Parts: sequence; structure tokens; C-alpha cells
Amino acid sequence: MANDNIKLDDIGLIINTHTHPDHCEANECITERSKAGITLSREEDEFRTTIGASLYKLFGLKSPQFTPLFHLKEGILDLGKDGFQVQVILTPGHSPGSVCLYLPETKILITGDVIFFMSVGRTDFPGGNTLQLKDSIERLSTLDIECIIPGHNTDPNGIIKGKDRVKRNFEAVQMFF
Ligand SMILES: [Zn+2]
Repeated sequence: MANDNIKLDDIGLIINTHTHPDHCEANECITERSKAGITLSREEDEFRTTIGASLYKLFGLKSPQFTPLFHLKEGILDLGKDGFQVQVILTPGHSPGSVCLYLPETKILITGDVIFFMSVGRTDFPGGNTLQLKDSIERLSTLDIECIIPGHNTDPNGIIKGKDRVKRNFEAVQMFF
């Protein structure tokens, strides 16, 4: 964050795509030092306090303790006074309450662990469901996308950029099912 010149006080809201340890372990580290709030879907919040907690135990980790500011719902989320909007899309499968975030203005899709470069999120963790993941990816494939930003990536370019590359990536990941 420091390298990107992002200060703690610049953060108003932490949106958790899901609650696997490698995606939300920094929540408390940031909220203890700033005024940032945390949000996630209701489904994922229920998951993290029930079967999701077993995953933390499995890795010998303490499950995250936080109270969300509010729960994300499917649809448009207004952020800030400048009219910045994010479309929240419920995409269960990798975890029961995973969300993807679509930025309509720039046509960017943030996928967490739902889609990667030429790959998809695993469904063998507690609460995972391959059929749900397939349906979620099918729904995402109908969006007008210029760029995919996954939670992990094996693409040397870091992100999946350009309509053609996005289309090819969807074609490839849909072969997994
Ligand atoms: Zn994950």
C-alpha cells in the first residue's frame, strides 16, 4: 500500500470477496489503525462464524473477529460522494457467500477466488460447491468485461486485460466443468 501511496486513512471500506484466511486476515490489522469499516455478504458472514471457522482451525489460525458495518446485497453499491458505484454479484461455489465486484464505468471485474487466469477457485474446502461455481461463472460470462482482476494470478501480466483475452479466459475456465 505504501508503494502505491495509499494511506490507512484513505480506506473507508474493506470489501471482503470471501473469508478464507488469505483474503481477510488483514481486516483487523487495518481497522485497528484506521476508521475503515468491513463488509461482506450475509451468506459469507454466516459461513465464517460456522463451518468456515473450521478452515482456520485446520491451519492453526485464529478466525477473524469483526463486526461488519453492513451486509453486501446483490446490486449496485454507492461508494462516496463522487458517484462511484460498484455492482455486487453473489457468486457462490468457491465459498458459500463469495462475491464478485463489477465496476460498470471501467468494465472491470474483481473476482476474488472465483476465476483466475485460465483457472477457477477450488471447491474442496468446507462449504465449496462445484455446481454453484459453474453457475456463478456462467452468470459472470454475460457481463461486458474489459478487465478481470483475480485474487491470485498465474498470468505474467498480473491482470486479464482486453475483451478478447477476457473472452478466451471464460472459454477456458468453462472447460473445467
Ligand atoms: Zn479462497
